[in-house]
Amino acid sequence: MLEASAVDAIAMPIVKCSACGALDPGPREICPKCHQSTLQPATVPGVGKLVSWTLIRRPPAQYREDGQYAVAIVRLDAGVQVTGRLKDPSEAIKPGARVRAVAPVRGTVLFVAY
Ligand SMILES: [Zn+2]
Repeated sequence: MLEASAVDAIAMPIVKCSACGALDPGPREICPKCHQSTLQPATVPGVGKLVSWTLIRRPPAQYREDGQYAVAIVRLDAGVQVTGRLKDPSEAIKPGARVRAVAPVRGTVLFVAY
C-alpha cells in the first residue's frame, strides 16, 4: 500500500526499454543496458529518496528570472535516478529524505520533502 504522500505525487516522465525493461531518466536514443534502440516514453510515480541537492545561487542566463533554486538528485522508488528541483531547500533536508514530485517545472519536476 502506498503512503498518502506518495499518492499525491505526480508522474515522472522517463524512458523505458521495451527489449530489456531498463528504466532511464532520458532523453536517450540507445538503451545503456542492452544497446538496442528500443527506448519508449514512460512514466513512473514521482516518489523516492533524496540522493543529494545543491543550491544554484547564480542561475544560468535562461533561468536568471527564477532567482536562486535548488537542484536535487532523487532515486525514485521505481529504480531510476532523476534530476529535478527541490522546493524550500534547507540544511534540515538531508540525503535519504523522502521526496515526492509535486509540479512540472522547466522541463523537469519540483520535489518536496515529506
Ligand atoms: Zn534495453
